[in-house]
Amino acid sequence: MPENQNTPQAGTFVSSPQTEQRYTPSEIEPRWQARWDANASLYAAEGHDSGKPKYYCLEMLPYPSGALHMGHVRNYAIGDALARHMWMRGYNVLHPMGWDAFGLPAENAALKNGVPPREWTLGNVAAMKKQMRRMGLSYDWSTEVTTCLPDYYRWNQWLFLKMFEKGLAFRKKSKVNWCPECCTVLANEQVIGGRCWRHEDTVVELRDLTQWFLRITKYADELLEGLDKLEGWPEKVRTMQRNWIGRSEGALVDFEVQRDSELASQRVSEKITVFTTRVDTIFGATSVQLAPEHAVAKTFALEDEALRVQIEGLLAEQQKARETDALGAIEKHGVNTGRFALNPFNGERVPIWVANYILADYGTGAIMSVPAHDERDFEFAQKYGLPVRPVIAAAGGEEPALPYTAEEDAVLIDSGVWSELRCAQAQEQMAEFAKAKGFGTSTVTYRLKDWGVSRQRYWGTPIPMVYCDKCSPDEPMPVKESELPILLPEQIDITQTNGSPLGRVAEFVNTTCPKCGGLARRETDTMDTFVDSSWYFYRYTDAKNSRAPFDSDKANYWFPIDQYIGGVEHAILHLIYSRFWTKVMRDLGMVKNDEPAERLFTQGMVIKDGAKMSKSKGNVVSPDDMIARYGADATRMYALFAAPPDRDLEWQEEGVAGISRFLGKVYRLTTKYADVAASSTYAAPRPKDQALLRRLHQTIAKITQDFDGRWHFNTSISSIMILVNEIIANEAAMDAGEISPAVVAEVFRGLILLLAPFAPFFAAEMWEQIGGEGVVFRTQWPVVNEELAREDEIEIPVQVNGKLVNVIKVPAGSDEAVVKAAALTDMKVVARIEGKTVVKVIVVPGKLVNLVVK
Ligand SMILES: [Zn+2]
Ligand SMILES: [Zn+2]
Repeated sequence: MPENQNTPQAGTFVSSPQTEQRYTPSEIEPRWQARWDANASLYAAEGHDSGKPKYYCLEMLPYPSGALHMGHVRNYAIGDALARHMWMRGYNVLHPMGWDAFGLPAENAALKNGVPPREWTLGNVAAMKKQMRRMGLSYDWSTEVTTCLPDYYRWNQWLFLKMFEKGLAFRKKSKVNWCPECCTVLANEQVIGGRCWRHEDTVVELRDLTQWFLRITKYADELLEGLDKLEGWPEKVRTMQRNWIGRSEGALVDFEVQRDSELASQRVSEKITVFTTRVDTIFGATSVQLAPEHAVAKTFALEDEALRVQIEGLLAEQQKARETDALGAIEKHGVNTGRFALNPFNGERVPIWVANYILADYGTGAIMSVPAHDERDFEFAQKYGLPVRPVIAAAGGEEPALPYTAEEDAVLIDSGVWSELRCAQAQEQMAEFAKAKGFGTSTVTYRLKDWGVSRQRYWGTPIPMVYCDKCSPDEPMPVKESELPILLPEQIDITQTNGSPLGRVAEFVNTTCPKCGGLARRETDTMDTFVDSSWYFYRYTDAKNSRAPFDSDKANYWFPIDQYIGGVEHAILHLIYSRFWTKVMRDLGMVKNDEPAERLFTQGMVIKDGAKMSKSKGNVVSPDDMIARYGADATRMYALFAAPPDRDLEWQEEGVAGISRFLGKVYRLTTKYADVAASSTYAAPRPKDQALLRRLHQTIAKITQDFDGRWHFNTSISSIMILVNEIIANEAAMDAGEISPAVVAEVFRGLILLLAPFAPFFAAEMWEQIGGEGVVFRTQWPVVNEELAREDEIEIPVQVNGKLVNVIKVPAGSDEAVVKAAALTDMKVVARIEGKTVVKVIVVPGKLVNLVVK
């Protein structure tokens, strides 16, 4: 708890213990929660016709694991403070909550405890909802969304059918990431450093499977360009998404593999297609480099046992680097295969290498190596003694140091008919030439891949497709919309081997063909749970709709989300998928917005003893324990007070106890002056009145600013503490009648309103005590009176050559000349600059004076 200059001296105030009451959150909080529960409209959003501006405040919906953890508490405390504040600022606020309720843990629990996934999940939902109520969170439960219930997931199926119609949902055989622990396919985004996102110790395998995909790559450019407009998103998240999408413009060029052995006659021509962003440097290519998993490398390996062993070694190094997320820093190794390829531009033979730093799943898995004009290629060529041949020079003619990677003001040299062209021009013309000659083309590549959504699991949305051996043995057919929802069967034997559990439920699998009416089979894969969270926030605007996912008018009123709040761990999974989904729904005519959320806030983690709270580390602090000991208000307020919300927070129980004692102080004061605070007569303020009012209005200004700006709720709360200390310092004066009752009234009223977003139970109780009218959260947020807030004198630090020498006092609002004169005549400053020449005086109005002396 920060101490400050206003800390009262012991004995300066008179207390009257016989009339004092103690702050007992365990009594106050449940009493208010019961009252709020009985008032169904308290946190309900109003209609479009409310006449107020709308504000959609949203925290990411939790997975119903069974109990809230401190990370949740922090996330919800931030969102709740904001929602309450916006209500008090006169907005029509939508503040909903729901459950991301499909997923593997429910199946694991079923295996372990024999409880059906649905029962386990809904039991957890009930338990967590109870915890949320106990915390006093202002959710509109009438719009609650539970993604595992058919009233929600039927719309996943409906949207899937719409995407199938548009060619956005499709099946293809592909290499997929397979977690042997989950027994299911993972999306690329769910593979972290080569391991499963749920199983940190399990290395993900590659398998060939026919899977369902959503064509997110169709929106790659729009997803990328849209990031520039998302100015209300953290730069960190935008950068992560840019890198994830990984757009690069370039050319594909085919290098023919040259065969001089008899093996050659057995094959039709083999070629290696390289992707390059610098086709203009192709005359400088001195080798072609393949990923260890490249098809041509595999062919060579089959022909040459020694080479096979070497290539496998390179692959192992690459896998190891993937697992430890160290691909970027991998020590580069390669082997010369002894084979050659032909550069189609000049017919030159270049050696083919296999290298550990080339990835099969990026670009084409093959590059041309141009050491003179690429850092990485240069490094590799130096190591293995490969030739370095410059083919680009500075336009001015001087010899640049190698590798020379500039494109601006650079021209081609020693490049046949393209010599003397500018790089950009050459890139265009050479790609056109390659296309005309049939050995290449210009292209754009993305790191982003289509989103694999098939899961061989039970607890997810069934994919609404059927297969008929008669009509279309290989191609799936969509089920009729009128048949939705395709319900998940409830009584099912869960196992995690041999494919999807649904495949063993005959009643589910067997169905009739939509075309011929004969026997058909249902698709037994279910959808990735990230489908559920891609559009849940639209459903909140119309959660009971049984004819459509939501009404477009309602969604268009509330969207985009004004403020979305959640963990940065969702920067690329959920936050890219939901942007894609919004664009698809826009193109289906369902919504008008291009992006789901105008502003995004990512809060820091809650840590304990220097590490993230986790069961395995034994450092978990239970919110229930904290609430039982100190109350929900103190727990929430501590979560906001202990660190700026975007930073990590080190949980210290002593801090929660401190907040509880602080609220106890405010409780004592408010109950003591409740009758005075209820008074409404106003008189002209006297000096002591003025000092107290100044502090109040400065606090209002500070907190209003924090809500509008950087959300430094930690300093908001400490400014409330400073205000309370000032009240305590004035307690004797208030008791002696030296402070007007009307001023006391204004101060307490303001104090309680300022506390309302942070400690809602407490504020409601105190508001009633002072006879406040109506509901405290619907009372107008206090407005700053600039006149009252102004300081008579302000303190300005004076520096000499950047070093602090003294802090001087000047009248508030002094102009530069006055501040300068005050600084130059200050005794300490005069002593410091004696015998020196003042070269410059820099005055930052209201902030700082810096003297530059020699
Ligand atoms: Zn796994
Ligand atoms: Zn059929």
